[in-house]
Parts: sequence; structure tokens; C-alpha cells
Amino acid sequence: MAASLRLRGAASGLRYWRRRLQPPAASLAAVCSRSMASKTPVGFIGLGNMGNPMAKNLMKHGYPLIVYDVFPDACKEFQDAGEQVVSSPADVAEKADRIITMLPTSTNAIEAYSGANGILQKVKKGSLLIDSSTIDPAVSKELAKEVEKMGAVFMDAPVSGGVGAARSGNLTFMVGGVEDEFAAAQELLGCMGSSVVYCGAVGTGQAAKICNNMLLAISMIGTAEAMNLGIRLGLDPKLLAKILNMSSGRCWSSDTYNPVPGVMDGVPSANNYQGGFGTTLMAKDLGLAQDSATSTKSPILLGSLAHQIYRMMCAKGYSKKDFSSVFQFLREEETF
Ligand code: NAD
Repeated sequence: MAASLRLRGAASGLRYWRRRLQPPAASLAAVCSRSMASKTPVGFIGLGNMGNPMAKNLMKHGYPLIVYDVFPDACKEFQDAGEQVVSSPADVAEKADRIITMLPTSTNAIEAYSGANGILQKVKKGSLLIDSSTIDPAVSKELAKEVEKMGAVFMDAPVSGGVGAARSGNLTFMVGGVEDEFAAAQELLGCMGSSVVYCGAVGTGQAAKICNNMLLAISMIGTAEAMNLGIRLGLDPKLLAKILNMSSGRCWSSDTYNPVPGVMDGVPSANNYQGGFGTTLMAKDLGLAQDSATSTKSPILLGSLAHQIYRMMCAKGYSKKDFSSVFQFLREEETF
């Protein structure tokens, strides 16, 4: 399994360099026709916590939308705003030659692309398909191959930044795919994010995203452990946070998203861990890091432990809370 993934990765790398040397004619023609019609409708599939505000930012920039979500209520707001709602990803592909997908998991992305009513059933030659979901890089590479067979282009473009950044158009996009198509992707992604970074061949956007989230999980658990220990040693939580944030232990989890209730305002820990980035999604991303570590034979000792901790939290009723609720989870544990 690991060997076949490596081979697949190498093959996709070779294709990437070949394309850089000599871009396929279909791809060049596609860029021309797409840029000539830059305010033609854009397809958007997956209108959840992130997809909803992202799609609205495209609307604000004047793009008409063709939308679809398996959960019909998610489309209602867009219908009311005069956008076109269709009944399958295939129908989106029939009407739009630029499509963005924002779905929870690899399985959902495979269904939306390759399912019985998936995008690939009706995708037009030269279409640009951008997947912003956080999924397995190996799945992104497989989808890219399928899309390429249909004469279209696939790019992975997962995001960093939560619902707040999605609303304000300040997401960071990490983009993998053929470099010649990056400008075409940037035109749309720039309407939803303040940073759009080209990472390399298809799958490298996902790779960057997975590494970031693994580090975030580890630093959040570390912050929660340090804060819990300090509080039990008699320190005032606000004072301890202040000291950490002027010392070498400082990190984003301690100074911007502190997990201890009462230390900061405007973060999920100040609101019973509601909103923010769910524990289930963090457990999923750590599972992706675990799979990638296995396929590349990389040691991720702390990443694996973080995966177990977040899985355990999901099993113990924390799945819908923000991932900083790991502090509450530890607080409830007493060891001797
Ligand atoms: P969500 O569950 O709120 O929304 C996903 C939407 O996709 C739902 O409306 C669901 O009905 C729809 N959907 C599922 N399968 C579908 C299918 N086959 N066809 C059409 N629609 C389908 O998830 P979200 O929070 O918006 O996250 C989306 C992705 O972004 C995830 O991969 C997540 O890891 C990533 N992400 C989330 C955040 C965050 O803070 N929520 C931050 C960064 C990245």
C-alpha cells in the first residue's frame, strides 16, 4: 500500500514536470476561454460552516453561482438571493466550467466527484475543479487523475483559518496542481482569502494543511496541559497565560486561542467551546496525518498521541465542541 502510494506520488511528480515543460493544448485552451469569460457562473458544492461564507464572498465579487449541497436547507439562502440551485454535482458540472468543492471528508469528495451523479459524469473539457476540503493527499492525486482523463484540470486548495476568516475573506489557501493553472485558480480563491500560496504538484496543498493542523493539535494539547498543571500548582490562569506569552512557551494556542475559560474574550473557551474548529474535524485531520506518516514511513510520535487524544475526546462527548476543549477534557482527569 505504502509502496503503491509512493509510486503514484512519483508518477504524478513526473507528470507535473512534463506539463511544466510542455503544457497540454487542452489546458491552455481552457485557460483562455475561462479568463475571457471571467464573470461566468461558478459552481459551488458543499455549503456548510465554511462553504456558506466562502460562496457568499464569491457573490460579493460579482460571480453568479450554481450551487449544490446534499442537505437542501443549506442551499435555501442562495436560492433566496437569486442564485441557481441544482440537484446534483453532475448538474453543477453541466452548467459551470469552474467549480469549488468544500466537503467534510475524503469519502464525501469521492462521492461528489466520482459518484453516480458526480461531477465527472458531466464535466466539460477544460473545466477547472478546485477542491478546498481537507482530505487525504492520496485521494486528491487519484481525483486529479480521473479529472485529467476527462480533459479537465483538478487542483487541491485546502484552507487555514476558521469560519471567522471565511466570513471576512481572510482565509489562507494552500494550492497544489499544475502551475500553469495557478493564476486561474487565484482569480477565484483571492475573492475568499487574503493569501493564496502555490505549494507544488497536486496533493501538496493537502500536505501543507495536514502538517499545520498536526502541529496545531500538539501545541493546543501542550498549552492545555501546561495551563492545567499551573492552575493545580496554585497559579492564577490569567497570570500564567501572561507569563507563558512573554516566555519561550508562547504559541498561537496560548496567545490567540487560549483554551482556559476566563483567560481571553472572543474565543471558543469563553463560550463553552461553541463554534470554532470542531474536535471531530481535528480528529479527522490527525487521522490524515497518521495515514500520510505511515505511507511515507515518517515518525510522528506526538502526532499519533494527539490523534488518540482527539479520538478519545470524540468518544467521550466532545465531538461537537471546539478542539480547545482538550483543556476541559484534561481538567476532568485526575491521576495519582
Ligand atoms: P460542514 O460539515 O459544516 O459542511 C460541509 C457541507 O458539505 C455540509 O453542508 C454537507 O451537507 C455538505 N456535503 C457533504 N457531502 C456532500 C456531497 N457528497 N455533496 C454535496 N454536499 C455535501 O464542514 P465545514 O466546517 O464547512 O468544513 C469543510 C472542510 O473544510 C472540511 O474538510 C474541514 O476539515 C475544512 N476546514 C474547516 C474549518 C472550520 O473551522 N470549520 C477550517 C479549515 C478547514
